[in-house]
Amino acid sequence: MFTIDAHLDLSMNAMEWNRDLRLPLHTINERESGLTDKPDRGNATVNLPELRKGNIGLVVATQIARYVAPDNQLPGWHSPEQAWAQTQGQLAWYEAMEKAGEMVQVKDLEGLEKHLALWQSDSPVMEKPIGYILSLEGADSLVNVSYLEKAWEKGLRAVGPAHYGPGRYAQGTNATGKMGPDGYALLAEMERLNIILDATHLCDESFWDALDHFNGPVWASHNNCRALVNHNRQFTDEQIKELIKRDAVIGAALDAWMMVPDWERQVSTPIGTNCDLEVMIDHIDHICQLAGNTDHVGIGSDLDGGFGTEQCPYDLQSIADLNKVPALFAKRGYNQVDIEKLMHGNWLRFLRKNWQ
Ligand SMILES: [Zn+2]
Repeated sequence: MFTIDAHLDLSMNAMEWNRDLRLPLHTINERESGLTDKPDRGNATVNLPELRKGNIGLVVATQIARYVAPDNQLPGWHSPEQAWAQTQGQLAWYEAMEKAGEMVQVKDLEGLEKHLALWQSDSPVMEKPIGYILSLEGADSLVNVSYLEKAWEKGLRAVGPAHYGPGRYAQGTNATGKMGPDGYALLAEMERLNIILDATHLCDESFWDALDHFNGPVWASHNNCRALVNHNRQFTDEQIKELIKRDAVIGAALDAWMMVPDWERQVSTPIGTNCDLEVMIDHIDHICQLAGNTDHVGIGSDLDGGFGTEQCPYDLQSIADLNKVPALFAKRGYNQVDIEKLMHGNWLRFLRKNWQ
């Protein structure tokens, strides 16, 4: 079934993990044997051929670079200008993949429908380009608000103002506090440009503050439920209900620590914690029960977000294994119409409505 994944960090993997995402997965992973600089070396589950194999023809793909003040222990850049340059390198990789015929940027309704028609055609699936909607995870790299229009011109269509920790425009996961004047100015400019607000990673105070100040389209590209795994990175039922009211779509993430409770990094294992794809269905089902319908959830796997098989469902070795998910929905009693919404239809409805 045609599938949309609303959160992948493809260019971060290309530029910081040094992965050529055109190569077979085993080739990427073999070349990483012996490397210990990242926790997921040799465990990659995402590349362009596996996306095609899984019929995942459209993704939301990030640019990502954090600014860190001297007292911030998180990895990141020492000035916003360096962070901006990093995101421009990431963009150059996406553009190079377009020139190579591997990817195609989707930035408006016309391009979306054209791309969907291509994926519905019976040309060989392994020759189809992966469509990508450009998003920015954490807005620190926008040197000032005027940079947003430059980014929009290059195709940027969604912004998550924060990532982990304190941000220049909003406070993120594990941080606290509201957005502040620069954040409000960013939101106003996003509204003017019709850029989607990605509510993922906003801390609770910034989440409510952002929704108070923003009247444009809102989604949450990769977010699970706090009711099932208690952590500030996850949404409370109250937050989920508010997003449903705003006609948002929430992408279910496949990072094991966000799926099963009490995950200990580099200690817990997917098998040991019974973390399989059915756990993702638990989170999706929780949102559907709160909504009373199947209109507000999709997939935002995050499967290349700094982890691999050591920290994702044990029945997934490659992102192509997402094609097991429709059968798992059916087993839970979801009908065909619902399953199509959850695999792609809700993201498409959202885009068609907001890109008119
Ligand atoms: Zn993230």
